[in-house]
Amino acid sequence: MATGALAGKVTMEGSRATGVAYTHRGRSIQARARREVLLSAGAINSPQLLMLSGIGPAEELSAHGIGIHLDLPGVGANLQDHLDVCTLQRATQRITYDTLFDPWVAARYYLQRQGPGTSNIAEAGGFARSPLAPDDRPDLQFHFVPAQLDDHGRNRLAGSGYTVHVCGLRPRSRGRLRLASADPKAKAVLEAGYLSDPGQEDLAVLLEGLKLSRRILAQPAFAPFRGEELLPGAAVTSDEELVAYIRRKAETIYHPIGTCRMGDDEQAVVDPQLRVRGVENLRVVDASVMPKLIGGNTNAPTIMIAERASDLVLATD
Ligand SMILES: Cc1cc2nc3c(=O)[nH]c(=O)nc-3n(C[C@H](O)[C@H](O)[C@H](O)COP(=O)(O)OP(=O)(O)OC[C@H]3O[C@@H](n4cnc5c(N)ncnc54)[C@H](O)[C@@H]3O)c2cc1C
Repeated sequence: MATGALAGKVTMEGSRATGVAYTHRGRSIQARARREVLLSAGAINSPQLLMLSGIGPAEELSAHGIGIHLDLPGVGANLQDHLDVCTLQRATQRITYDTLFDPWVAARYYLQRQGPGTSNIAEAGGFARSPLAPDDRPDLQFHFVPAQLDDHGRNRLAGSGYTVHVCGLRPRSRGRLRLASADPKAKAVLEAGYLSDPGQEDLAVLLEGLKLSRRILAQPAFAPFRGEELLPGAAVTSDEELVAYIRRKAETIYHPIGTCRMGDDEQAVVDPQLRVRGVENLRVVDASVMPKLIGGNTNAPTIMIAERASDLVLATD
């Protein structure tokens, strides 16, 4: 498929995937696969594309007038993500990346390839075990950003500061992905289900993480730079207040997975060879196949899934 093309659906003949129908520069095109169809649209769009192709929960497809090729109830289910909460501290010195939007920063980057513009912003990170960790693996991950980062950077704050992010690594909560309409241009409905686990364990882990973030920021190494705590704010001290802050401010750290889960049970979408169960000639190759969120960032394991897929495809030669 050409760059910039929008896939609308996988085309089918009986139970066999034959290609992809897509639009490019306003033209509708049908590509026929010489061998297999590999779907790699990510954890949000792969289940959406399967559903648009008539592969998914029958009831949901019918509700949108989509003809059913295969009733596969697990498509779109099992959505998992790392939920993240930030502690923002004002800095007493103007040495942070809050200057990133200054024109001189952009000019210096373009002319000299130097300065704050060269940073990936998330310059340090780490893992820790909270007292709630069920085994000897870390259950918290930290990212340190030498800038004030609120609402994914959309809320630009005056002054200088720094931010510690923390997320719970093994969430028990599950969400799901639904269709908003049968139109491929319409965004899917993402019901993230954050903090929805019945035991409220995800919330308890995040509360531990928030307290640990504060302990890190209170260390002597920060003393020369430490101003007031901006968020949650020094007045927020009780567990109840911190929980309210988490519920109000926690947000994704962009690791959705699991919506085309691999397995061999009835709810599984792909088998261990990444083949869509019940469909010939169609594999899903992206983060959506992960059954469970890993305890870290998701890009490297997704690359490993792709490497494995290439072995599997070549093995069918
Ligand atoms: C802002 C952000 C920051 C991140 N930072 C990190 C990080 O620091 N470290 C880390 O490990 N992970 C990070 N991640 C997560 C990581 O990027 C993902 O886990 C990884 O990219 C998942 O790969 P994927 O192939 O499943 O999906 P994607 O990388 O999302 O690829 C899916 C592709 O399919 C295309 N597509 C979707 N629908 C259609 C359609 N209908 N037609 C045609 N094309 C379509 C999309 O445009 C996209 O190019 C970050 C994610 C985000 C969003």
